[in-house]
Amino acid sequence: MTENPIRVRFAPSPTGMFHVGGARSALFNWALARQQDEGRFVLRIEDTDAARNKPEWTEGIIQALAWLGISASDPHFEGPYFQSDYAGKHRESAEQLYKQGRAYYCDCTREQVQARRDNPNLGYDGFCRDRGLEPGPGRALRFRVPEGGPTVVDDAIRGRVEFDHASIEDFVIARADGSPLFVLANVADDIEMGINQVIRGEEHLSNTPKQQLLWEALGHTPPGWAHLPVIVNEKRQKLSKRRDKVALESYQQEGYLPEAMVNYLMLLGWAPGDDREIMPWAEMEPLFAVSDVNSSSAFFDEKKLRAFNGEYIRGLSVEEFVRRCRPWLDPEVAPWSEENYDEDVFRAVAPLAQSRVAVLGEIVPNVDFLFLDEPVDDPKSWSKAMKPETAAPMLAAARERLADPSLDWEPDALRAELEAAGFDLGLKLGKAQAPVRVAVTGRTVGLPLFESLELLGRERTLLRIEAAQERLRAEQGGVAPAEADAVPDSGPEGTAATE
Ligand code: GLU
Repeated sequence: MTENPIRVRFAPSPTGMFHVGGARSALFNWALARQQDEGRFVLRIEDTDAARNKPEWTEGIIQALAWLGISASDPHFEGPYFQSDYAGKHRESAEQLYKQGRAYYCDCTREQVQARRDNPNLGYDGFCRDRGLEPGPGRALRFRVPEGGPTVVDDAIRGRVEFDHASIEDFVIARADGSPLFVLANVADDIEMGINQVIRGEEHLSNTPKQQLLWEALGHTPPGWAHLPVIVNEKRQKLSKRRDKVALESYQQEGYLPEAMVNYLMLLGWAPGDDREIMPWAEMEPLFAVSDVNSSSAFFDEKKLRAFNGEYIRGLSVEEFVRRCRPWLDPEVAPWSEENYDEDVFRAVAPLAQSRVAVLGEIVPNVDFLFLDEPVDDPKSWSKAMKPETAAPMLAAARERLADPSLDWEPDALRAELEAAGFDLGLKLGKAQAPVRVAVTGRTVGLPLFESLELLGRERTLLRIEAAQERLRAEQGGVAPAEADAVPDSGPEGTAATE
């Protein structure tokens, strides 16, 4: 048994979508907690900002963590605790500091403080320090920052960070209505929950000297600190929810696998060594050390994440791949109807798709030709592949050859036929198959054509080629035969059918 087992915490505020930066902090904490039998990861929801909190954000945090593999089903997980349930403890801590003389009441308004200072950027001037005010209406409680200093934060990632006390004002720890401020609540909770390591984002570093002073004033040894580097986009700007895709849920919805996401997030500021990057969680977990985290900002490279995800997708068994694709294939959300969807057909096409998609959501445009009555209409693909001079003769030749009932409907034979049809027209296979591909799947890119045709079947393939021929003719001649039949010579206002 470890003598002082590690107790870390993840303390998100439920004020928005769960951020990839939060996910990385959670994973680093989780790795440390899991390295010891008695190690604990405490989830504390910091929900004291009632105006900005929503229960669905809390639910989102819990679900996102579970998706990453961090959940109450693991004995290293403790909580969730809710900061709002500890309001009494926060008040007690404020009172304790007041009673010890480490905090004092102050009735200065902001205007009064500013009027006394030449430089409005300077903080509070300590006016009430020695006035001995009792608690009362309009009086906030301020922490008495000790003379002298500095406070040295010993950060596992950044080393010694010194904060001169002259730069720390006597900060408010409880408002005039008695409600404690976040800076105190956060410390009181960490003390109450026995936290001995705080690993969190760099944006909290400026709060740390204040919190360390509070820990000491409340009679406890401060925890070990580690402030993780900021995560930046390709322009080296800090990821922002207004500009960048930061919600973990967005990645989940696009079809990133949690194991790929976990792997990638672990590399934002840390590396397992030996130039290894793709490494499953089980191998990373025992290697992770917070002191090995780099202090410089970490680039969130979505392209790299996609590549990771592709690798993880290819590593799944076909059975597992099919299972993971199901949420995207469900006719409730997919573009096809319940009657048209056939899981056996999907199972047959799955290995082809598995080697090509980078995210699971891409499965839909790759296989929709099998489950839609007609291929999708993608104008770009159409105009690219359907140049009348080559497409019309190619489609005609393909149709003729593929209609031959003695033809074996399997990829090699289909390929040979299209190759031969192209050869007669002086077209290389790539050029020859493009109009057929667009006729059949609607798109210029997709799964290997001959396997696709095999799965689609002769009848549907021929019908689609025919439909494309008709459309081509209509575009060339101006009027589609079907349309021409359906429209009278002139409409009610005398409009011509082709207008
Ligand atoms: N609730 C804070 C936040 O979501 C975290 C505070 C901490 O980790 O100490 O940013």
